[in-house]
Amino acid sequence: MIRVHEPPAASTLGSQTIAVVGMGYVGLTTAACLARRHFKTVGIDKDKKRIGRLRNGETLLHEPGLHALVRDGLRSGSLRFSSTIQDARPADIIFVSVGTPSRRDESIDLSQVRSAARGLGAALRNVEEKKTVVLRSTVVPGTTSGVFIPTVVEHAGKRANIVFCYNPEFMAEGRAVQDTFHPDRIIIGAKNPESWYGLASLYHHFYGFEKQKMIMTTFANAEMIKYASNAFLAMKVSFINQIANLCSETPGCDAQTVAEAIGLDKRIGGLFLRAGLGYGGSCLGKDMRALRAYAKGKDIELPLVDATLVVNQAQRMVAVRYAEEQLGSLRGKRVALLGLAFKPETDDMREAVSVRLAEALLAKGAQVIGHDPVANGNARSLLGDRIAYADSAEECISGSDCAIVVTEWDQFRRLAARTFRRAMRHPLVIDGRRIYDPEKFGKAGVTLIAVGLARSSG
Ligand code: NAD
Repeated sequence: MIRVHEPPAASTLGSQTIAVVGMGYVGLTTAACLARRHFKTVGIDKDKKRIGRLRNGETLLHEPGLHALVRDGLRSGSLRFSSTIQDARPADIIFVSVGTPSRRDESIDLSQVRSAARGLGAALRNVEEKKTVVLRSTVVPGTTSGVFIPTVVEHAGKRANIVFCYNPEFMAEGRAVQDTFHPDRIIIGAKNPESWYGLASLYHHFYGFEKQKMIMTTFANAEMIKYASNAFLAMKVSFINQIANLCSETPGCDAQTVAEAIGLDKRIGGLFLRAGLGYGGSCLGKDMRALRAYAKGKDIELPLVDATLVVNQAQRMVAVRYAEEQLGSLRGKRVALLGLAFKPETDDMREAVSVRLAEALLAKGAQVIGHDPVANGNARSLLGDRIAYADSAEECISGSDCAIVVTEWDQFRRLAARTFRRAMRHPLVIDGRRIYDPEKFGKAGVTLIAVGLARSSG
């Protein structure tokens, strides 16, 4: 459940005005949370359609708590939207949260960063009042000082009064609002303390009494910290998945128990140690590939990063292998995918495990039907009519030969073993996210194969 702390009294708040450029997951959440704390905020995106819908209070993405924040911000007048970057000019602090997707050669595509920098520079042409411009997109070391700042300055003119920060974002989709109000730490890269001041003071007002760990550092460190964090998280996931695959073949072993126990060691920590079908999403894979491409440019190999990516790619295929072991050929078999979004509480399908899994099953001749509480529409735009879509979990598993839990939505946790037993043609469940009790399913006559759980008791 999302808990949004009541903002401190308006009198204690800073008077800075804010612009946020890029109204995707990160930018929109940032803008809505700032508005919630009474900062006058304008959210800017070049996509006019998106801005039109945001003005009507449609958030366009599923993120717990976000819709209410946008609606309240619009109603109170603290939040507005614009498709004109010129509207950033009056703001004291301007955040830039545009996308940095992967290019074919795995490096990050900086075209959105460059175009935002050009537009913003022109908007701030010869500006006299001091402005703080904060890049928040994930970019490889050297980008802020080597690409972003020179582009803004080139278009703003050398006399423009601008200081720059790089402030990476660590929010996780599905809990982005919660993470924005309660981050583990804030990293600010800048050239000198004078440049940090505006942003640090904004955060001071934003968080009020809740003291935040703020780390002030160089641009390059701040950029590297973001990549190192994501690489480490992805590595933890791939590590536990390797152990899980070993546990599956080791009588008496359960990766869940192993993970819980090793996670109690403070040096290791329990988060991101959940065995499953691997990670998806717009960040971990993309950022690992970008880090690898960056290292390649320096003639440095990153074998841990390589291995993490390879393990993750292979992990979703364990579900296909288990299905084949139980059913023989999958040709003509009906396989139900429970969950399509890359994680629960989001409708984001970017690099979702479900997509590659569906493609692998289709290649084996299976008929695939999927259901997601919120992502069916987005899934359809990626997978089209190659798979069928069900309006409920029950409809999805009905008449199927195998059900695979791909995304651990709470709705699926609540499905009883007997529901599978009654609805399926062949009661086989592959629990790719460890949400079911194997004993209960066994008693109900459902074959449950859980990733990381020994498949024979020995
Ligand atoms: P996104 O692709 O959802 O949104 C980017 C938005 O920027 C789009 O709406 C696009 O129209 C807009 N845009 C592009 N160029 C523009 C321009 N010149 N002027 C105005 N608007 C422009 O991206 P996102 O998922 O919000 O991610 C943004 C950045 O934050 C990326 O670098 C990403 O790696 C990083 N990040 C993302 C997450 C996440 O969970 N999504 C978490 C942490 C960091």
